[in-house]
Amino acid sequence: MKQVLAEIITIGDEILYGQTLDTNAHWISGKLDENGIRVVRRTTCGDNEQEIVKALAEAEQHADLILITGGLGPTSDDITKTCLARYFDSEIKPNEQALRELEHYMANRGRALNELTRQQASLPDKCKHITNNRGTAAGMWFNKNGKIFIAMPGVPHEMKHMMSHHVIPRLRETYELPVIYHKFVRLTGIGESWLAEKIEVWENNLPDNVKLAYLPTYGDIKMRLTAYGNDVKILEKQVRGLIDSLLPLIDKYVYGFDDNPLEVVIGNILRERNEKLAIAESCTGGFIAHKITSVAGSSDYFNGGIVPYQNEMKVKLLGVQPATLEAHGAVSEETVREMAVNVKDRFNADWGLASSGIAGPGGGTPEKPVGTIWIACAGPSGIRAKKLRLTKDRDVNIRLSAVLAMFILYQSLVKKD
Ligand code: AMP
Ligand code: MG
Repeated sequence: MKQVLAEIITIGDEILYGQTLDTNAHWISGKLDENGIRVVRRTTCGDNEQEIVKALAEAEQHADLILITGGLGPTSDDITKTCLARYFDSEIKPNEQALRELEHYMANRGRALNELTRQQASLPDKCKHITNNRGTAAGMWFNKNGKIFIAMPGVPHEMKHMMSHHVIPRLRETYELPVIYHKFVRLTGIGESWLAEKIEVWENNLPDNVKLAYLPTYGDIKMRLTAYGNDVKILEKQVRGLIDSLLPLIDKYVYGFDDNPLEVVIGNILRERNEKLAIAESCTGGFIAHKITSVAGSSDYFNGGIVPYQNEMKVKLLGVQPATLEAHGAVSEETVREMAVNVKDRFNADWGLASSGIAGPGGGTPEKPVGTIWIACAGPSGIRAKKLRLTKDRDVNIRLSAVLAMFILYQSLVKKD
């Protein structure tokens, strides 16, 4: 199997000026890597003909596959299409299939084609068009001396859809690429480096055809195992075996697999048991409830919640004892426990989840510095409470607290320590 080498060229003045983060190159790199294609270089250039043509010529020297994004819009600042036409000595002409798809796209949205949009369906006559299901700029596929050049729109969601649904399948038909099997293990409640330490021996013993990636977002970690081979059934079995030996090492933190985030896993458990949840949030300001209700059908198990931000409201709306607040303060184990129990009872639920803390940047004291956050979960057979000591900025502290609060609920539901 010959290794396919790729270069990514992202085009746009806004990237060079630091106004837009080049997430396209990052995402495309990951996608190619998943498919066994090696990225050897990434280049960014402005909306400038000389620079674009120079980048194309250089990429052609050292890559088999060149992926380009950006500069395909209908306005005059976007010039990638004309540069490609010039580079491939091609003439821009109306492309029938692109026009049909464009008309269909616009009709579906009840909009008519104007002249500027119609030009989007004119493409260099030496390219094959690539469908854009998410926008008006068609993609372009050029073959030249055994090399492939692919141009896609800059808008990330358009590019991602085009790449996943049209480009990758065609590349897999064109090149002999390895068969790939992915499995995600989802976990939280542990930092990435501690996790890496716990599984170091297991990781070092991974077979050569299996790669591990850590994909963390706000305290939630996806571990991706990717196996390369010739037969998906064999890969699936191999990965299952590896996961069987991994789980005992990190069982405490694992809540699920593949596409199901924590809020979905929790929802499924509650629905199955016909149990209900209520939430009282101080420092997270409703963010936990937002996560829970971002799942379709959450009304099956979520009774509701409140955000009693002031002490007075904690007393009035939630029935927290004034004496508790006086003796221990709002950010305390005692208060958050009362919040969890009382919201459970007042909302007629089986489970109550609560948060109270100092998200920052102000409001800290020597005893309770910024990032001190208490979370608690009250259930049918007791209460669990936990103190978090977070060190990030306000937004991240809130997101982390929400994930860890949901995790304490998950632990209570499945009786994990
Ligand atoms: P364009 O295809 O050049 O008209 O790009 C349309 C929009 O997509 C730009 O305004 C950017 O916001 C976004 N965009 C373009 N290139 C990138 C990139 N490499 N990474 C992330 N966003 C991009
Ligand atoms: Mg642009």
